[in-house]
Amino acid sequence: MARRRLIAANWKMNKTPEETEAFVRSFLPEAARQASLEVLLLPPFTSLDRAGRLLVGTGIALGAQDLHFEAAGAFTGEVSAAMLSACGCRYVLVGHSERRALLREDDALVNRKLRRAVASGLVPILCVGETLAERRGGETERRIAAQLAAALDGVESRDVRPLIIAYEPVWAIGTGEAASPAAAEEVMGRIRETVGSAHGKEAREGVRLLYGGSVTPQNIASFLDRPDIDGALVGGASLRPDALARIVAAASSERA
Ligand code: PEP
Repeated sequence: MARRRLIAANWKMNKTPEETEAFVRSFLPEAARQASLEVLLLPPFTSLDRAGRLLVGTGIALGAQDLHFEAAGAFTGEVSAAMLSACGCRYVLVGHSERRALLREDDALVNRKLRRAVASGLVPILCVGETLAERRGGETERRIAAQLAAALDGVESRDVRPLIIAYEPVWAIGTGEAASPAAAEEVMGRIRETVGSAHGKEAREGVRLLYGGSVTPQNIASFLDRPDIDGALVGGASLRPDALARIVAAASSERA
């Protein structure tokens, strides 16, 4: 089954609406439309509406970095799935390691958010990954399996197939020290097998797996060379339109 490649730009807590507009206006002419490749911007909440308007008809997708697990109500400061869809979002990150570590999001909360996204017609990008201590302790496989099992608990197999899973070793995020493509693929191959064992062949072959952690224009091709890696979740290197355009160009020319 051919899986469409995806390059997702996670801007984290960066860019005002004006800066978002400047980025999009500069990036659009550089990012040639590629049928084999999907490009996704994940700006902060306050830039979603502006980005959504600018991206209409461009072929570039929009997503959010988080959502609340309830549909609506008395949750001061939170943002619902319906609000994201109304801004033009098709995707949403769930369980990013910065939220897990800094905001104490646990696996149960990640599961509730993922189920809300699915129920609301958003495609979740589930982030999983081990810490350095877990890696050194030989705990990587166990940790990732536990994150997957908890996040996907109660999710129907038909809803798993369009899902995206980002493998982001915590020690590689924002450190300039990417995982080796071979090591990333080893973990990602196991993620694919785990999804397949729980949800069947279609889910196994359909689920898109992204690598994240210090991806750059220089190293992106080495990850995409690997059959189990369908794209990348890019943080720091996605903040400059020229750098993101170079990553997209490298990813487009890689597709077999
Ligand atoms: C991320 O936060 O999802 C990420 C991959 O960041 P960076 O590319 O900066 O390591």
